[in-house]
Amino acid sequence: MTKNWRPATQLVHGGTLRSQYGETSEAIFLTQGFVYDTSEAAEARFKGETDGFIYARYGSPTNDMFEKRMCMLEGAEDARATASGMAAVTAAILCQLKAGDHIVAARALFGSCRWVVETLAPKYGIECTLVDGRFLENWEKAITPKTKVFFLESPTNPTLEVVDIAGVAKLANQIGAKVVVDNVFATPLYQKPLELGAHIVVYSATKHIDGQGRCLGGVVLSDKAWIDENLHDYFRHTGPAMSPFNAWTLLKGIETLPLRVKQQTESASKIADFLADQKQVAKVIYPGRKDHPQADIIARQMKAGSTLVCFELKGGKDAAFKLQNALEIVRISNNLGDSKSLITHPATTTHKNLTDEARAELGISPGTVRLSAGIEDTDDLIEDFARALSKAGM
Ligand SMILES: *Cc1c(COP(=O)(O)O)cnc(C)c1O
Repeated sequence: MTKNWRPATQLVHGGTLRSQYGETSEAIFLTQGFVYDTSEAAEARFKGETDGFIYARYGSPTNDMFEKRMCMLEGAEDARATASGMAAVTAAILCQLKAGDHIVAARALFGSCRWVVETLAPKYGIECTLVDGRFLENWEKAITPKTKVFFLESPTNPTLEVVDIAGVAKLANQIGAKVVVDNVFATPLYQKPLELGAHIVVYSATKHIDGQGRCLGGVVLSDKAWIDENLHDYFRHTGPAMSPFNAWTLLKGIETLPLRVKQQTESASKIADFLADQKQVAKVIYPGRKDHPQADIIARQMKAGSTLVCFELKGGKDAAFKLQNALEIVRISNNLGDSKSLITHPATTTHKNLTDEARAELGISPGTVRLSAGIEDTDDLIEDFARALSKAGM
């Protein structure tokens, strides 16, 4: 029955488990363990003959509700909730690889994701080739007989480049490799990697899913067979489990996800158009605009633009700092997807650890600024930018 619900309904009711008290809101089960009525019941639970929870590192009721609701939203068979987005990414990649295997990843990755494939994985004998993911031929050229995983983000942080997910999935299927997509920037509402042929989807639930700046969280979603064979044991024994308290916070966040993301996207799109008309702005990159360099791929694989806007100021770092400092509503922060509008200067914050050359490859210049639109009134945000651009004397 729940399969026929449209997303907004699933996100309010999907996966709900009610206790004997019939509570309206989902309960928080802050318990480490579970008790059994008899020794036989414990034995049967451990043998897997009866359903039920065993230990909170393996799974628990509030986390189960969050995982089920995420599965419905994503169209996935199974999921595991993790303590952070990075726990989800690390688990999704490492659980399926061994020494000698090879990863092909897009070079435009969230900083910590890039560290996991570029620095951590090689320590365990898993080699990685980073490619310019915008062009399919680069993925194909990087394939070796050992390639087991393709890893990508689309749109990317901060320059909102996109990768042809269906194209990469086709290459992967030809060699029996798996595609892992970090779908944070698109949100589960605007892009469905599994429908496009990807095998595993990961989220930092810290971003739009919480969306109100309260807690960290992550989730790995895939088909049941992949989770059983790869993630199940890794997850149980290495312990990246999410706190039930955070699972509850995220369940409440997920209820309003479509409302928030719709408002954020509307504002982002209008702010992108406003900025594109300003003399101080050299260029605007926004997945919802026709002048996005990869508008054709976006039209094929995304349902809508984005809650993020990337733009470049003609006056470089000085202009970027002045603009950020002059904004009154939009706050300076490296986070994204929040109900508060946030702005960041990637070259000096999120991407400061890259060399000048690596930043240039990714299209990050000293004047590049990334905006994450919040749920404030769109006109107030546009007025904030208008005021800040003139106040900064640009
Ligand atoms: C934030 C983010 C992560 C990491 O998530 P955490 O919850 O901070 O661990 C991974 N990938 C992308 C694209 C992100 O934006």
